[in-house]
Amino acid sequence: MDYKFPVTRTTHPKARPEDESKLGFARYFTDHMFVMDWDEGLGWHDGRVVPHEPILIEPASCVLHYAQMMFEGMKAYRTPEGEILLFRPDMNAKRMARTCERMCMPELPEDLFLAAIKAVVTEDADWIPTSPGTALYIRPFMFGDEVSFSVLPAKHYRFLIILSPTGSYYAANDGGLHATRIYVQDKYIRAAKGGTGYAKVGGNYGGGMRASQDAMKYDCKDVLWLDAAEHKYVEEIGTSNAFFVFKDEVVTAPLDSGTILPGITRDSVIQLLRSWGVKVSERKLSIDDVIEGSKTGDLKEIFASGTAAVISPIGTLNVQGTDYVVSGGKVGELSQKLYDNLYGMQTGTVPDTMGWTYKLGLTVK
Ligand SMILES: *Cc1c(COP(=O)(O)O)cnc(C)c1O
Repeated sequence: MDYKFPVTRTTHPKARPEDESKLGFARYFTDHMFVMDWDEGLGWHDGRVVPHEPILIEPASCVLHYAQMMFEGMKAYRTPEGEILLFRPDMNAKRMARTCERMCMPELPEDLFLAAIKAVVTEDADWIPTSPGTALYIRPFMFGDEVSFSVLPAKHYRFLIILSPTGSYYAANDGGLHATRIYVQDKYIRAAKGGTGYAKVGGNYGGGMRASQDAMKYDCKDVLWLDAAEHKYVEEIGTSNAFFVFKDEVVTAPLDSGTILPGITRDSVIQLLRSWGVKVSERKLSIDDVIEGSKTGDLKEIFASGTAAVISPIGTLNVQGTDYVVSGGKVGELSQKLYDNLYGMQTGTVPDTMGWTYKLGLTVK
């Protein structure tokens, strides 16, 4: 279907961030956003591009009390020729559908989702940064805003897309990769079987903040979550998936427990590694085997994968105050190779042999 959305341009365009090396993650927002409403009986209606500004919300809205909401995260990249690319946006649409099903929220058809992204990114395309490691972060989200204190799915929803020019999530200002310290969380859990672990919903993250705050006491950036039942098997790292590179096998947690967020970067890493002839196993891996591997040297690298950082190498795991170093605390070879290839494909500097990039049909000089 061909969607047309009315555009209301801002009368107060913001100054563009001057120094792309200081963008950080989601510190700046662009001039416009996308907004659309859903009502029972009507479905999605009144999609529009409007100035990015605070929205009014009724204090009794169900999202503010019972957290009926979901979000997605993706990026737009600018090639050296000025062409605008997305990375596997169909995967975001499909994941969003699974999240909405879990949260009793209305589905958004894939073509409508893509048309909405295109509309707002087109409006603010000149905000897409070009320095190494940067991109335009796209945050689509939906929430129930019916006025009701009964714990029932809302009958009215809003869907928004906001945009933020960002540097990489973990990296320092030079745009390059840096190995980080991660705390192995053995007290709190993120997701249990039957819960919402596989869905990108706010509650998963609000509930995780205590753990990441505690990790900072150990000078760690984030936590490695263990499984909820036994506190034994590695699951994921903060808002990214975790990979463990052994001598002859790369291991990541399987998705079948429903406790892992099915990352699009995770899927891309698995496919890319297999295309290079590397053995990848989606299997349970105990934290004891990880610690043992770091001692014997069989564990060569650990890295996290996610849209925000693409690939984030882990140099040290902290387990109850004790440091276990991997790849000499430095960026591993495979982590660097994956980052170079993925970010290269995303920004059009490495040929996309997998058919993953999606041209928005838009060029900015
Ligand atoms: C978003 C997210 C990921 C990474 O997903 P990508 O699609 O690769 O960005 C992994 N784990 C969690 C908990 C997440 O929220």
